[in-house]
Amino acid sequence: MIVLGVESSCDETGLALYDTQRGLLAHALYSQVAMHEQYGGVVPELASRDHIRRAIPLLQQVLAESGIARNDIDAIAYTQGPGLAGALLVGASIACGLGLALDKPMLGVHHLEGHLLSPLLASDPPTFPFVALLVSGGHTQLMRVDGVGQYALLGETLDDAAGEAFDKSAKLLGLGYPGGPAISRMAEFGDPTAYQLPRPMLHSKNLDFSFSGLKTAVLTLVKNHTNICDQDKANIARAFVDALVEVLVAKCLAALKQTGLKRLVIAGGVGANQQLRSALNAAAEKRRFRVYYPELEFCTDNGAMIAFAGAMRLQIKPEAAQRDYAFNVRPRWPLDELGI
Ligand code: ATP
Ligand code: MG
Ligand code: FE
Repeated sequence: MIVLGVESSCDETGLALYDTQRGLLAHALYSQVAMHEQYGGVVPELASRDHIRRAIPLLQQVLAESGIARNDIDAIAYTQGPGLAGALLVGASIACGLGLALDKPMLGVHHLEGHLLSPLLASDPPTFPFVALLVSGGHTQLMRVDGVGQYALLGETLDDAAGEAFDKSAKLLGLGYPGGPAISRMAEFGDPTAYQLPRPMLHSKNLDFSFSGLKTAVLTLVKNHTNICDQDKANIARAFVDALVEVLVAKCLAALKQTGLKRLVIAGGVGANQQLRSALNAAAEKRRFRVYYPELEFCTDNGAMIAFAGAMRLQIKPEAAQRDYAFNVRPRWPLDELGI
């Protein structure tokens, strides 16, 4: 079965073709980052309009790369939510239009399920059950994953997501948008002893997180400098990254202990972070558990994870394929409500 995936929940247009027999055939991505950069964040209306422009050329690209014909597609999976309503509607309309034109069924996919299952696209994938840390721009959650659609929420952030904390702190340091990768690179040159930032909820005895205080702590440090130089920025970046990574790792260890599981899966954009990966790899070696990551290019939004999640669902439940071509999007949609 060949599934076309369409991702458009935020500022990336992603299309991909996944074959349940041969694996990922092709994927193509267009990031709107350059367009939104001047506004310091994503402008929803501009995002929607750009998805319209990009989707069909990207479709042509994945068809050409994979060498398959449009009619070889068996089903179309699109991101139904959560995300920006207008952006989601564009992807859903495109999936619906293609479904009607090609006479193929469609299926709405949960964006976070896409992120969560993306490590299964890697060459040495984890088996169920596992603990998953979902660390993206809009979410920070620990889940127990027993299979596709079997997600139990163990804990989540009470305020900012980890990616949001990265982006907001980077903005305070004047590092542009989205600032996650930039603040991470800068931290490499920072002195780890220069500043100590709080580790929010490190000892909270539950699996919840809170990152908004960390951003405020960064703001205070920035304000304390009248003439901030690059080395000051690097030191602050280092203090921020160290604090955030320490909390994420500690909560992962607590989640593994609570569930008794030995496999940890990291998903979402912050999963690309090298400091987080090193700290988790060191902990895994010491505590004898295994940690799995998506390929770097599939940490942030992409069409491959949507095609893959759609294919997994259709294999388990073929009747989920929808042929009435009525669609609705769900801008807010808790993952643990999903089921199969
Ligand atoms: P959600 O999936 O919750 O709706 P999203 O789709 O915007 O949110 P992702 O695409 O998974 O989130 O990830 C984007 C986030 O990842 C941004 O906040 C970005 O700064 C962060 N990010 C990407 N690469 C890195 C990195 N190397 N280090 C730290 N953060 C990173
Ligand atoms: Mg993005
Ligand atoms: Fe995402």
